[in-house]
Amino acid sequence: MSSPIGLPVVGMVGGGQLARMTHQAAIALGQSLRVLAVAEDESAAVVTPDVRLGKHTDLEALRAFAQECTVLTFDHEHVPGEHLRALEAEGYTVCPGSNALRHAQDKLVMRTELAAHDIAVPAFTEVHEVGEVLAFGAEHGWPVVAKAIRGGYDGRGVWLLGSPEEASVLVRELLGAGTPLMVEQHVEMRRELSAMVARSPFGQAAAWPVVETVQRDGICVEVLAPAPGLSEQLAADAQRLAIRIAEELGVVGVLAVELFETNTGVVVNELAMRPHNSGHWSIDGARTSQFEQHLRAVLDYPLGRTEPLAPAVVMGNVLGGTEPNLRIDERMHHLFARFPGAKVHWYGKAERPGRKLGHVTMLGERMNPLRAEAELAAAFLGTGRWPDGFSIH
Ligand code: ADP
Repeated sequence: MSSPIGLPVVGMVGGGQLARMTHQAAIALGQSLRVLAVAEDESAAVVTPDVRLGKHTDLEALRAFAQECTVLTFDHEHVPGEHLRALEAEGYTVCPGSNALRHAQDKLVMRTELAAHDIAVPAFTEVHEVGEVLAFGAEHGWPVVAKAIRGGYDGRGVWLLGSPEEASVLVRELLGAGTPLMVEQHVEMRRELSAMVARSPFGQAAAWPVVETVQRDGICVEVLAPAPGLSEQLAADAQRLAIRIAEELGVVGVLAVELFETNTGVVVNELAMRPHNSGHWSIDGARTSQFEQHLRAVLDYPLGRTEPLAPAVVMGNVLGGTEPNLRIDERMHHLFARFPGAKVHWYGKAERPGRKLGHVTMLGERMNPLRAEAELAAAFLGTGRWPDGFSIH
């Protein structure tokens, strides 16, 4: 399988904004990403000409797509593991492979595997009945955190349980609805970090600076690169940890290791084996973006350098506002007039309150003033309103 100019063809399963931005990076490498999307109006499907329509849960659709690609990779974790294993058994190249990817698909498998490698994770246990949660809370203290083992994203599938009474009601409800469930210790953290790395089949690895991710209502709203005030020692430890995880799990492509920073070090929360929201800053803020790096890795090209292009980089997610003001192009007009350095990325998605519509990145010398500007820019792009008393001139 090759492109008109003889290049291998990368196929991405899933047509969301991650595929859209991967396609953008693919163009510079002489590629056009081939995308398997579920609908014509998906974020990537509206910008790449090379779209196949089909469901990622349909093995026939996946197989037909794989036949037209040199290598398959993913914009999300939702392809069933048995389909991935079937494709691999038939000889198709899948990056990351099913053995690695299952650690990003199943929180219980991930926690169990990392704990077996002596990597710090919150104490956890699988849940089949309410009594197990009550016993876990009695042992580790309340609150505890219940999680859907599979299928959660953006905090959907995570429940904070404050007391045995609260746990009894909710856990019974969740188990009754058939949710595969685990419970874990509530981690007292200083903040959340993300260590992003890439690994190629050849075995080369590269790490970006460790970033701070700021969450609101379970959704990442802001990323600060590098994480302000993080000691060199802890930053290097987190990078080494992420590379070790990539190696031990055999990841090919980019890997985001979401971390909790505690008073004693870092604890792993979550793994994502695809471009990740905590790496969007790298498009404008690093020598090589996570999207280009992911392509280089799955094509087994040498990886690119990862150093930041400014002392401080802030990425703000643009979330849809309720009753937004001004058309999107008017918002951009005002934003660019106020912040000529802002780099804006829209995902081509219809506006809905709380929906991730795009992101804005700013580069500067000092984190604090830059952060205030990026927050303002992201809020304005989402709502079309400046805060009270703020003048745009
Ligand atoms: P998702 O896969 O839906 O993104 P996560 O497991 O990453 O879910 O959890 C979402 C958010 O919930 C985290 O970013 C963090 O803020 C909070 N959280 C998750 N697990 C814990 C925990 N054990 N202790 C404290 N906070 C947690």
